[in-house]
Amino acid sequence: MTRFVFITGGVVSSLGKGLTSAALGALLQARGYKVRLRKLDPYLNVDPGTMSPTQHGEVFVTDDGAETDLDLGHYERFTGVSARQSDNVTTGRIYSTVIAKERRGDYLGGTVQVIPHVTDEIKEFVQSDVTDEDFVLVEIGGTVGDIESLPFLEAIRQLGNELGNERSMFIHLTLVPFISAAGELKTKPTQHSVKELLGLGIQPDVLMCRMERPLPASDRKKIALFCNVRPEAVIPAIDVDTIYQVPIGYHEEGLDVQVCKHFALPTDKEPDLSRWHNIVKRVREPEGEVTIAVVGKYVQLKDAYKSLSEALAHGGIANNVRVNLDWIDSEIFEREDAVKHLEHVHGILVPGGFGERGAEGKIQAAKFARERNVPYFGICFGMQMACIEAARNVAGVVGANSSEFGPTKNPIVGLMTEWIKGNEVQKRSETGDLGGTMRLGAYPCVLKAGTKVAAIYGQPSISERHRHRYEVNINYKPQLEKAGMVFSGMSPDGVLPEIIEYPDHAWFVGVQFHPELKSKPFAPHPLFQSFVEAALVQSRLV
Ligand code: GLN
Repeated sequence: MTRFVFITGGVVSSLGKGLTSAALGALLQARGYKVRLRKLDPYLNVDPGTMSPTQHGEVFVTDDGAETDLDLGHYERFTGVSARQSDNVTTGRIYSTVIAKERRGDYLGGTVQVIPHVTDEIKEFVQSDVTDEDFVLVEIGGTVGDIESLPFLEAIRQLGNELGNERSMFIHLTLVPFISAAGELKTKPTQHSVKELLGLGIQPDVLMCRMERPLPASDRKKIALFCNVRPEAVIPAIDVDTIYQVPIGYHEEGLDVQVCKHFALPTDKEPDLSRWHNIVKRVREPEGEVTIAVVGKYVQLKDAYKSLSEALAHGGIANNVRVNLDWIDSEIFEREDAVKHLEHVHGILVPGGFGERGAEGKIQAAKFARERNVPYFGICFGMQMACIEAARNVAGVVGANSSEFGPTKNPIVGLMTEWIKGNEVQKRSETGDLGGTMRLGAYPCVLKAGTKVAAIYGQPSISERHRHRYEVNINYKPQLEKAGMVFSGMSPDGVLPEIIEYPDHAWFVGVQFHPELKSKPFAPHPLFQSFVEAALVQSRLV
């Protein structure tokens, strides 16, 4: 029997609903249950693929090629369950399905309305693609009170009614602020938020209260009384120093017990949280530290590189060191010398990116790393820029550039117009749609024997997640090879360069895919583990 737990948020955004959902998933898993997590996003884009990373944060890509919300990254990292296309939906996608059905004549004779047509579509999505999961946790994006999320809240209200208490449950995450002038925690915003939810027909079963300091018993009672929940179901979610402490903290406050009790499941056995305790210990007591410069252009919003910073932290966990990140806006190198910003760091990472702005600065960063023998990790755009750098400065290809930035005589990086996905040929042109048309999701890559990456992965072929429209141009391979670059990973048909490296460099690897998307705290990605290790070696030199 699959049970559905709906997680809503109130008072303010950014309370960490995604992490809360992921942590609950981890706790239920630790109790031996099979879980699945999904997210409903209220905006009108069909998916976040066309949104600016500085607005929306990172786009998390699944193996099956869906461009999704970054919360799915938290879900994967905390539970190890690979997210799928069917785990994230937006208002835009729901409406386009409903409208397509209307045009097809599926509702012939009827007036198509938010209730029941849109809500039915949402309910169908929530329950779709579920097999033997014990729990499906469904996070509803946005904050209660937003106009946009109303159809989603209405749909989960209906579902709660249809499934009954035995199969559904509502958790509401709110803020309990501390007002220092009064020296008090304030419960009123939570009361209002629950009232708002009640007005929509949803009575939360559990309240998660984000707060900076412990919740006194009197406040707990007050919240319970006013919000119509039992005092044990008011769970303080106190700020912690590391996200890996969140499942432990929630367990100590009784969250998993409350959920199990709601569904009349046994609670006598303690869940095994030893792996979380181990990780927290490693994070809190590192044996050293390294500094990595992340040279990107969305650095003002850390969420734009969420999986990346997590993967670097995992690389640190694997090496027992803390990884300090030096976020550098690549545009700065167009005005100032890279040396002063980079000479103290132990590794340089140029992450994924789009568009011309900031590209020259990333090329500078790759040049600095190559010339100074500083570990360099180029991811997607970061690999492309490293190839342009080598073409220009080592191979002597005048005007080497990417056609992403406009017409160029020497397109070292060019638009992919054709590639193979499974048994099908994918075709693209300059004038095609931008949404959902990149080379997305898991693709295989064959590693060249004897190379650094072959040693790092320890296997001859790998599968990694992609998200790109441009590609290092195979026609320039001979020139780049002459410049000392080795093409150490290729698509199985040998057409698409997937990985490049310099064999005579301390650690210089560029990958066309996004390895950060598959790294987990309990299974750090081998490339991040190796890169941090190389940075550690470098830290002993500078
Ligand atoms: N803009 C580049 C491309 O589309 C790189 C994309 C990325 O870094 N994810 O190929």
